[in-house]
Amino acid sequence: MQKLVDGIRRVQLGVVEPKRAKFARLANGQSPLAMFITCADSRINPNLITQTDPGDLFIVRNVGNLVPPHRANNSGEAAAVEFAILGLGIRDIIVCGHTHCGAMQGLIDRPRLKGLPEVRRWLRHADSTRQIIEQNYGHLEGQARLTAAGQENVLVQLQNLQTLPTVAALISRQEIRLHGWMYKIDTGEVFGYHPDQRQFLPLVPTAKPPAPHVRVRARARAAALPVQRKPARAGR
Ligand SMILES: [Zn+2]
Repeated sequence: MQKLVDGIRRVQLGVVEPKRAKFARLANGQSPLAMFITCADSRINPNLITQTDPGDLFIVRNVGNLVPPHRANNSGEAAAVEFAILGLGIRDIIVCGHTHCGAMQGLIDRPRLKGLPEVRRWLRHADSTRQIIEQNYGHLEGQARLTAAGQENVLVQLQNLQTLPTVAALISRQEIRLHGWMYKIDTGEVFGYHPDQRQFLPLVPTAKPPAPHVRVRARARAAALPVQRKPARAGR
């Protein structure tokens, strides 16, 4: 814990102090650029990988970056989405999966979940992902299969997102942009889903697709996703 306490001290002196006025303004309210839904995995840092500041991202994290569909339960995720849209006026929502995801590993290799009943129950919100992998990706194994699961899961969760009434209402008016992203742990690269090409492509031109690159299987639902190619708004 000492590393954490030391960090707090350094931030107070080296980060907050020089920007005291900016931090003080944050007390007046928030106006985030986007909502960012990602995995609880400690290797992901949304503000670091997007170089954003406090107040820029409305972040929700959980095991496997899942979004329970409408009526699944009174989920914190649904509440956060509702607040993001109605309370904060956010119109860009990013679901960001990642390579080497432990949740996806457990999802496609169920014996790994032995002794983890809560995780097993939680991952039911990704049942569709498991079915998609089992039925369509039998030709892949190891990291390739895991990467495919991560990518497909982002698309499944974007679908779940659209079952939430607040999101559905905005989609019908084309007033919200949903983004499917994939973060590559070992390089820090980010890939965005392109519905027209049915694959994840680098958000920054110099980045290469996650190796081994997996082309997402064509499905009507994927093509119908109102996922935009452009990244979250640069500013408001
Ligand atoms: Zn994960």
